[in-house]
Amino acid sequence: MNTEFTIHLKQTLSTLEQQGLYKKERYIEGPQSNKIRVNNTEVLNFCANNYLGLSSHPSLIQAAHEGLDQFGYGLSSVRFICGTQTIHKKLESSIAKFLGMDDAILFSSCFDANGGVFEALLGEEDAIISDELNHASIIDGIRLCKAKRFRYTNRNLESLEQNLKDASSARFKLIVTDGAFSMDGTLAPIDKICDLAQKYGALVMVDDSHATGFMGENGRGCHEHYNCLDRVDIITSTLGKALGGSAGGFVASSQTVVDMLRQKARPYLFSNTLTPPVVNASIKALELVSDSNIGGKLRAQLKANTQKFRTEMTKAGFHIYEGIHPVVPVILGEAELSQKFATEMLNEGIYVVGFFFPVVPKGKARIRVQLSASHTNEDIEKALQAFIKIGKKLSVI
Ligand SMILES: *Cc1c(COP(=O)(O)O)cnc(C)c1O
Repeated sequence: MNTEFTIHLKQTLSTLEQQGLYKKERYIEGPQSNKIRVNNTEVLNFCANNYLGLSSHPSLIQAAHEGLDQFGYGLSSVRFICGTQTIHKKLESSIAKFLGMDDAILFSSCFDANGGVFEALLGEEDAIISDELNHASIIDGIRLCKAKRFRYTNRNLESLEQNLKDASSARFKLIVTDGAFSMDGTLAPIDKICDLAQKYGALVMVDDSHATGFMGENGRGCHEHYNCLDRVDIITSTLGKALGGSAGGFVASSQTVVDMLRQKARPYLFSNTLTPPVVNASIKALELVSDSNIGGKLRAQLKANTQKFRTEMTKAGFHIYEGIHPVVPVILGEAELSQKFATEMLNEGIYVVGFFFPVVPKGKARIRVQLSASHTNEDIEKALQAFIKIGKKLSVI
């Protein structure tokens, strides 16, 4: 390896460390759950995207085994050559039905879905109008597309409307937003965004990765929560969060849009198909969330857990952004404090992580708590007590 190149990288890495921005990974010694083992100790996990507690659900593990036994380990192919099994089509139609769309198309991840969707559908005559806090994969996907780019202030309708006016000469306009913003636990006002889209003749795309499976009466997502089931044109989302937490993403839309993506989306055409155990378990995950006795109960539990935690934390004097989403940002301020807080919490048996610049704005460092249906009342009590103890110790409350 070229020595100067290595020195250059080492310097960059040590700058990250000095600025307190270096990300270290902790090793989990077992399956994902509300209780996990870290450093040979059992701790409560409050930072997984395991919203419905399905990540290690026995039915999903069984379905994954069945997928493996009946359809094999791998396909050694992309979808259009010899990588499409009956279960891939079954999963796509389950997703479409669940979301209220014509069809869906699978990708290896939602990152890939967002990487492929824009370039395949829009050209330089078109405009994409994107929320400034959209996920990195949306930003990258837009970069790969020749459409003109417009960016509006987070969840701000006046800013969105101004951008729609500025983009008026475009052939087609696409508004794109995260359904739920993962760092703030806030929701995009989908209903009002759809109103503006209608007024200006724009299309609407929602990345619902932090909502699919649990937002809305039947868990369909933010479009259901805002009564916009037939108003959102394109939904992208992940199988890697509430729907079992393994891997995979998708785009759900009209038949024509999905047909076009199968022809043109590059991550779909040039990357391997999803593996049978994941596909079969994802079909099961959708069955569970669609079942009001199972999914409905998990959603009710998640909602109760979220409400309890939000109410008690506010009462204790912490600064949290208001809302209803199971992402609860506990705002602390400086990066160092957020890291110190997280370390102290782990000593109390609560696994949470500090988030700081550049992931969130400077001075807005935070602990991002994520509730799950798998948390018991006792788990939440323990977390609250630890927050209050450490909050007092570090003079936050
Ligand atoms: C997590 C997330 C993704 C990435 O999903 P993967 O399937 O893990 O690639 C994309 N968009 C949003 C909004 C996300 O939260």
